[in-house]
Amino acid sequence: MGISFRTTGAGRAETVREAIEAYPDVSPFVILKTDVMRRSLRYTERALSKLDKSIHQYQQRVLIGSNGAEGADVPVSLQLRDGTSIIIMPNLHAANPYTVDEIDGKLFLTDQGRIVEEVEYWYKPDYYDKFTSSGTPMWQVASARPQRIDIDPNSHCYFWDGGGGCKFCNINANSTRSRKERNMAVRLKAQDVYETVREALKQPGLLTNIKMSSGSILSGQEILDDEVELYIEMLQAAGANFKHKKFPSTIVASAFSEKQLARLYDETGLMTYTSDIEVLNERLFSWICPGKHRLIGYPEWKRRIVQAVDIFGRGNVSSGIVGGVELAKPHGFQSEEEALAVVLEEAEDLASRGVSVVHTVFVPMPGSAFHNQTAPSLDYYVKLSTGLSTLRKKYQLNIDMDNYRKCGNHPDTDLDRIDEGSYRHVLSAG
Ligand code: SF4
Repeated sequence: MGISFRTTGAGRAETVREAIEAYPDVSPFVILKTDVMRRSLRYTERALSKLDKSIHQYQQRVLIGSNGAEGADVPVSLQLRDGTSIIIMPNLHAANPYTVDEIDGKLFLTDQGRIVEEVEYWYKPDYYDKFTSSGTPMWQVASARPQRIDIDPNSHCYFWDGGGGCKFCNINANSTRSRKERNMAVRLKAQDVYETVREALKQPGLLTNIKMSSGSILSGQEILDDEVELYIEMLQAAGANFKHKKFPSTIVASAFSEKQLARLYDETGLMTYTSDIEVLNERLFSWICPGKHRLIGYPEWKRRIVQAVDIFGRGNVSSGIVGGVELAKPHGFQSEEEALAVVLEEAEDLASRGVSVVHTVFVPMPGSAFHNQTAPSLDYYVKLSTGLSTLRKKYQLNIDMDNYRKCGNHPDTDLDRIDEGSYRHVLSAG
């Protein structure tokens, strides 16, 4: 499509300051968030002393990522002053991380000792310290994002069992560690889900959405039937708390057949659907997601996502990509220019058919095959976020199902709601 990027800079923006100057139409908060995600962060002892376990979140059930930095209790995420989030755990092996420090009673992101921006730790919802009737801590049933709860009923991905796990993903390594450290179950129980949602709904203003996600379950009469059954059971349990059949909800799941999608829509209150294609190129999909490639394949994965629009409607179906993984070595694109052109062309094909593409920032995670890779430049991410957001405007797709309040993990969906100009004067990034 040839998206043009309004930039005042001639070269590639390497730092937050350069990117803010080069891209006057992009929110500085989005630029900063992206850079923190690609470079990671650490906490000083002073900053950690401000973590108040009675009010802040420091433990979560997390499918992919890590729910503990080398065993320490750390904040699960940060909130910026515009209400957007930076969802990242510290990485003690990062080469050039930001530092969160406490200065005069407030928390700041700092870079090489220089203050960049004030941040807050995420607060804990009221249900977090309660227990279900079976004795399960409710924080282990539902993790909380700013205005969404995440119920991830199965934290094992069966693509891994045949050596087909996605190369950027650490789900099984992460869940093994979680079980050991926090005594967490791989599968949730429907009754626990029902009781936790019931409790969460008691807190006014807490919830705008319920999201469920799970590692892929390949078994069943038709491949993925058992994953569909699990979602049906869990969505029905959550939905029993609502007066009406349909309730604000989404799943981030495998690419289901039309028959499976129809069952999900008809038998539950599910309103929106995401299936992550991860990387928008068939050749790289076969390398990076070998299990998905072998058992379903790129064209079919994509076709199924598009088919879901007929069931859930335009604006109610999205697909996530791991932004930057398309440049992984040795088989990824050789240049950021080529990668951006290919990714945005493929994203436009999906957008034109009613599917929104959203991106995360590639974080080379411990426990994943790509733990030694590096993320691309900040300049690349600014263009990727802007490009995906521009495509949504062009095809009039709203992304309320995955916006900054419900998710917070996509710089491009943050862009969809921010009036960039009104925030420029408040950020003194360096
Ligand atoms: S399908 Fe890929 S990204 Fe999703 S849980 Fe399995 S290995 Fe991870």
